Amino acid sequence: MVTSVTTIRPDLDGLPAYVPGRAVPGAIKLASNEVPLPPTAPVLAAIAEAAAGGNRYPDLATVALTARLAQALGVDASRIATGCGSVSICQQLVQATCLAPGDEVLFAWRSFEAYPIVTQIGGATARTVPLDGDLRHDLDAMAAAVGPQTRLVMVCSPNNPTGTVVTRAEMERFLAAVGPDVIVALDEAYHEYVTDPDAVDGLTLLDAHPNLVVLRTFSKAYRLAALRVGYAIAAPEVATALRKVCAPFSVSSVAQAAAIAALDDADALLAACPEVVSERVRVRDALVAAGFRVPPSQANFIWLALGQLTADFAAHCLEHKVIVRPFHPDGVRVTVSSVVENDAFLAAASAFAP
Ligand SMILES: *Cc1c(COP(=O)(O)O)cnc(C)c1O
Repeated sequence: MVTSVTTIRPDLDGLPAYVPGRAVPGAIKLASNEVPLPPTAPVLAAIAEAAAGGNRYPDLATVALTARLAQALGVDASRIATGCGSVSICQQLVQATCLAPGDEVLFAWRSFEAYPIVTQIGGATARTVPLDGDLRHDLDAMAAAVGPQTRLVMVCSPNNPTGTVVTRAEMERFLAAVGPDVIVALDEAYHEYVTDPDAVDGLTLLDAHPNLVVLRTFSKAYRLAALRVGYAIAAPEVATALRKVCAPFSVSSVAQAAAIAALDDADALLAACPEVVSERVRVRDALVAAGFRVPPSQANFIWLALGQLTADFAAHCLEHKVIVRPFHPDGVRVTVSSVVENDAFLAAASAFAP
């Protein structure tokens, strides 16, 4: 039965649908950039302990987690805002910056699929600038696209889904061109996988740029995607605004305890990163040798610029029990996982006959 509920915003019909990673029994899941390992034992113990207090509301202000993050990052706690994953922080950024009709959020395309969604939910207008010929952010073109309506710029480094990074020099030139009046968010969800010494590290630019917001997450290298914890580091005024627009209690007590335990056990968790770094090179080299176009990646995934072959390639991989993430008609994003899982993907890819 089709019902018509006239008070629902009609623009929601046009909202881009978020395509979740598919779960197929027995298949290898390389669609969501997760780490295939579970949380470490101390983190699991903290989760179990916190679960016993599940009858109580969590700490609304996430005081202990914020203090632990401040210590780990070497910044004042007033500069940190936590949220229900950094996707939620992206949405909070739109809510905190865009109000008037026509207020714009600027981002590169293709980039993180959540950016256009949170922009529209927030009632703002998306303005996109194409990636350059190397599938990198074209920050000069983005600076030129900043106008009087621009309230927020999202920069993703490494970029999801292409894996390319913004350099520190490029980011400094961009921030200088944009000036202090527009919030610039640097989404560093894959920061822990970056090895390029020229890549930007947002933390190092914060003191000079009060309009810069650095986004990080516990979902990737810290292996807590299901627990939903992300955070922003920003000027205190911006962090305060982000806390105001956050849905109350959106970081659960289990998530807060897990994130603190993950920071305490960071050495063990991050010890898994070097294998991903070497595997992303091995996987890319094999794909390039097989004739695929794959930009160098600084993240835990790689991008196959397959164009019109995108959907066929994803279906082919599924037949081989490997789930990848197609973004038709641009390309396919594939998570770099363990050697065994990566080999299964490479076997499927090499059997692809367009
Ligand atoms: C995975 C990812 C995030 C993190 O999302 P969470 O909500 O923290 O799980 C943020 N930004 C980008 C670009 C990502 O790929």
